[in-house]
Amino acid sequence: MDSAEFRQRGREMVDYIVEYMETLGERRVTPSVQPGYLREMIPKNAPHEGEKWEEIMSDVESKIMPGVAHWQHPRFHAYFPSGNSFPSILGDMLSDGIGAIGFSWAASPACTELETIVLDWLGQMIGLPDAFLSFSEGSKGGGVMQSSASECVLVSLLAARAQKIKELKTLHPFVDEGVLLSKLVAYCSKEAHSCVEKAAMIAFTKLRILDPDENLSLRGTTLSQAIEEDRALGLIPFFVSATLGTTSCVSFDNLAEIGPIAQEAGTWLHVDAAYAGNAFICPEFKYLMDGIEFAMSFNTNPNKWLLTNFDCSTMWVRDRFKLTQAMVVDPLYLQHSNSEKAIDYRHWGIPLSRRFRALKLWFVIRKYGVTGLQNYIREHCRLAKSFESLVRADERFEVCNNVKMGLVCFRVKGGNELNRQLLANINASGKLHMVPASIHGRYIIRFCVCAQDAKDSDIEYAWQVITDYSTELLSGEMV
Ligand code: PLP
Repeated sequence: MDSAEFRQRGREMVDYIVEYMETLGERRVTPSVQPGYLREMIPKNAPHEGEKWEEIMSDVESKIMPGVAHWQHPRFHAYFPSGNSFPSILGDMLSDGIGAIGFSWAASPACTELETIVLDWLGQMIGLPDAFLSFSEGSKGGGVMQSSASECVLVSLLAARAQKIKELKTLHPFVDEGVLLSKLVAYCSKEAHSCVEKAAMIAFTKLRILDPDENLSLRGTTLSQAIEEDRALGLIPFFVSATLGTTSCVSFDNLAEIGPIAQEAGTWLHVDAAYAGNAFICPEFKYLMDGIEFAMSFNTNPNKWLLTNFDCSTMWVRDRFKLTQAMVVDPLYLQHSNSEKAIDYRHWGIPLSRRFRALKLWFVIRKYGVTGLQNYIREHCRLAKSFESLVRADERFEVCNNVKMGLVCFRVKGGNELNRQLLANINASGKLHMVPASIHGRYIIRFCVCAQDAKDSDIEYAWQVITDYSTELLSGEMV
């Protein structure tokens, strides 16, 4: 493909994307294909000679689209939103065009510097303490982009592990590191995302999964009791992961209680706010972060709820040297003469190579402005409240979470099997897509406001589908 053809195909692709977005509602929200469907449609071997672009694009529509779950669809209410917007797509497009791999300052100075600045912007918008911002006087903190919240949690845990082992080595220089490692224990709530368990598994450390209270919030007393018990067994607490906005039901751990206990115990407190953290750009939600001053690290995903395409997971640390100490390896071919004065993000995470992800977030923040982004978050929350009112007004249903943001958890009053069947019927219809979760051992249905420009009519439509299928199921039950 030469430049002239790229110009043409690029314009056609923009048209295709716009057409896709504008007519998305006419498609089934989820595909009705079976595993292996694509094998039947695509040749076993790669083509020997290059093919015509028209043929490739025609296969996109006839072979790929039938197997796509449309996350931007107005009827998509599953998981959490997958951030998307035209400015963000343009940012990714430009990043792809530039094609730089900004692993160090020298490898592409603008990649590094824009990332640091945009993370300072977003950190201020969220209201993180100054210690997390790189520009504040005497700060050792700063922000970085990772590919996922799972990666943010993992690198935090690895940093905490390295820090604790270093501390213990000073106290017990002749004890083998493997022995020290075997004593380390981390903590999180049962409601924490499974990525905490995965991080502990990768890091080969113990993890104690604690019971939250009746509001699904991890409380200070539960943590302090667990720490005390573990110390009595000779274990060494090193890491606490608190969640603000849990995956099942957007509940909030009590950071104000957990924070001082984690600090007193000498642990690294990480705060995972993958979804809800984006809402902290609105002043009315900042109270949920009380206790953040005790945190060593914090993450949120603009690629969930800030109109930014995957991947864009932002993370801040109070002490970047404590993070990088766990990650630094420094071969000659990666060194440069400005490494003392500049940030090298290769030391802040696992991969070496990094895309120019800051561009899309920069575009998004500049194009919408803080006010535009706040309006977007508030509109999703308003629509969730409106859905909640519909559920509450129908006595056959119950709301199962404290609806603070864009997620409503609900169920038909009745058994788990009834709710499982209801959700299966709705999802099979392709009219709406939602996923379940378990709250206090009960099967519930999660309804998340996801679409970028979700409207009242989408909420009304969704409720109509839910009540239609419920009426059908409940009348069948009574027969
Ligand atoms: N943490 C929380 C609270 C989440 O809700 C999720 C995903 O929904 C994750 C972590 C994992 O996110 P990622 O897919 O970016 O690893």
